[in-house]
Amino acid sequence: MSAHEGQPSQLRLNPLTGRWVTVATGRTTRPDDFSRERQAVETGPRRPCPFCPGHEESAPPALESYGGAGDWSLRVVPNRFPAFAGSEPMTVRNLGPVFSHAPASGIHEVFVFDRRHDTGWADLDDAQAGLVMTALRDRFEDHGRRSGVRYTQAIVNHGREAGASLTHPHGQLLGMPIVPGEVAEEEAGFRRFAGSCLLCTVAEAERDAGHRVVLDGDGVLVVCPFWSGPPYEMLVVPDAHEGHISRADPHDLEAVGRALRDGLARLRGEVGDVSYNLVLHTLPHHHEDPFHWHVHVLPRIQSVGGFEQGTGVPINIVAPEQAAAALSAGVAV
Ligand SMILES: [Zn+2]
Ligand SMILES: [Zn+2]
Ligand SMILES: [Zn+2]
Repeated sequence: MSAHEGQPSQLRLNPLTGRWVTVATGRTTRPDDFSRERQAVETGPRRPCPFCPGHEESAPPALESYGGAGDWSLRVVPNRFPAFAGSEPMTVRNLGPVFSHAPASGIHEVFVFDRRHDTGWADLDDAQAGLVMTALRDRFEDHGRRSGVRYTQAIVNHGREAGASLTHPHGQLLGMPIVPGEVAEEEAGFRRFAGSCLLCTVAEAERDAGHRVVLDGDGVLVVCPFWSGPPYEMLVVPDAHEGHISRADPHDLEAVGRALRDGLARLRGEVGDVSYNLVLHTLPHHHEDPFHWHVHVLPRIQSVGGFEQGTGVPINIVAPEQAAAALSAGVAV
């Protein structure tokens, strides 16, 4: 048992990169973690899934529930092992010249987006795919009202290689007291792109080029971007220019949910039920900088090696043009 177990999470600054690290030791004892040693256990008798209907009491009480009480279609529950928790103000303390830390205050929620256990976003019907996105929008609005939450990261981890701790379809929302480095870099990218919006321009250029388009319609474009890092990476961009997901039009939100479903179904049709991460990027809550909200689909087909870790430069062995050709031909619309 770790000496730090049960201690609140802490943010620590890496002075080499200027990026923050969260030290959340409570998570190492997560009972359902897919750590390497536990993988074999998955084939044996399983504990009841806390996200399945009928086991709602084994997860903390819902913060939000959509659909009827006994017939819910989406639930938002607090994460039992939060990486960010509490409302202590973001005060950076310096223990000497290189040890800077701050409380990892914030919110960590789980959203269970299907009643069925062995499914994924690729299996949602139109109504449910739309509901997931409108429910997410509601959470972003809620997080934006909490003092101290500067940015909310929404993710879905599907499959072991993507870091999923439970197989039941679910995602996570992490409300953080900082703007993380990845988002700050994207904001800088939008600012550097003088003239018009970077992603509006990407959408136009990809439509002109045509051969990296996977799906196009209903106000949403799905492409394998020109700069794809992982094989079969997809970028989902709503046509309507908006920086904040919390201000997105309900029709556009629902259309993004369906486009994700269709893109993921094509990915499965082409390469099988592979692990993937969905990463939603939107403006930090109180920023008004140039931005255009979007979703990254990052398949975990290829493991990340030392070169990628050391340089941040992925080596993609499937050209996005080749990936898009396969995905756009994969399944009938
Ligand atoms: Zn389940
Ligand atoms: Zn735009
Ligand atoms: Zn992004």
